[in-house]
Amino acid sequence: AAKEAGKGKYMIFDPAFLQAFNDRVLLEKHLRQGLSNEEFLLYYQPQVSLKTGKVIGFEALIRWNSPELGFVSPLTFIKVAEDSRLIVSIGEWVILQACRFAKRLQNEGLGHYKIAVNISVVQLQQEDFVDKVMEALSTTGLAPQYLELEITESTIIESFDRLIPNLTYLRAQGIQIALDDFGTGYSSLGYLKQMPITTLKIDKTFIEQVPAEDDKRSLARAIVLIGRKMGLQVIAEGVETDRQIRHVKRSKCDVIQGYYISKPLPEEEAVALIRSDPAYDIGDSV
Ligand code: C2E
Ligand code: MG
Ligand code: MG
Ligand code: MG
Repeated sequence: AAKEAGKGKYMIFDPAFLQAFNDRVLLEKHLRQGLSNEEFLLYYQPQVSLKTGKVIGFEALIRWNSPELGFVSPLTFIKVAEDSRLIVSIGEWVILQACRFAKRLQNEGLGHYKIAVNISVVQLQQEDFVDKVMEALSTTGLAPQYLELEITESTIIESFDRLIPNLTYLRAQGIQIALDDFGTGYSSLGYLKQMPITTLKIDKTFIEQVPAEDDKRSLARAIVLIGRKMGLQVIAEGVETDRQIRHVKRSKCDVIQGYYISKPLPEEEAVALIRSDPAYDIGDSV
């Protein structure tokens, strides 16, 4: 046995690595089951206009309630889903589900809201990605301007040339495109100008530190300014406090999303929120 052989002698794998590997294999197995057993849910986090205080849309965020593992964070399972390519099927489900939700609000006479969906670069690289998105729109009857695809800044830079044609096509169909976690990657302004984007989502790390670090604060302002100059809608993510609201208002962000307004909500709660027709009192806080 390994024990008798002496310490480390037959240890090809670092036990921590082996453990991590086993965890991944297990997670992948459960993910596969999760997909066929419909263990995934979408939660919806409202986005609010700083100008009007009204909800203008939602970001769809996936949740996984696994009978074996309990609630698993997307921060844990998205990477595994990408490596195993399961994200392609999961992502298709997410897009369809999200479009259904936006259409449901319309059908129930609650209004026209944008629905933002996170897209993995693995999905974007699929040959039929464009078809799948258009199919989700036609299946649900949602008009393209109500769908926004969120793509993280860092992933788009990695395979810029390959991804731009598809994104440009989708943009031309009227779909909105957001750069997510903006400010954490390294887009040059040159790149930014070539991207068919409509929206910048300023990463929450730029909001969190307010007003602790002057550097970050001025950087956040510069980013907003660039976005506005380019005619993009600028969304601040992760807004939690009054202070942060004041900061993003002064920086001239258009839209906020964060716990200050609401956590991501299960579908029925999101519908109830819209029914209550809330107006957030953010105008007076400046
Ligand atoms: P993200 O797209 O940047 O989403 C924002 C994350 O910030 C969400 O975490 C949200 O719950 C959280 N958040 C919102 N407001 C606040 C706030 O005020 N304070 C703090 N501290 N956090 C806030 P979540 O839902 O755990 O998702 C994490 C990441 O997982 C997402 O980051 C996104 O990259 C990925 N993800 C989520 N759903 C999907 C999906 O359907 N498909 C793909 N490919 N990725 C997804
Ligand atoms: Mg996002
Ligand atoms: Mg983000
Ligand atoms: Mg993120």
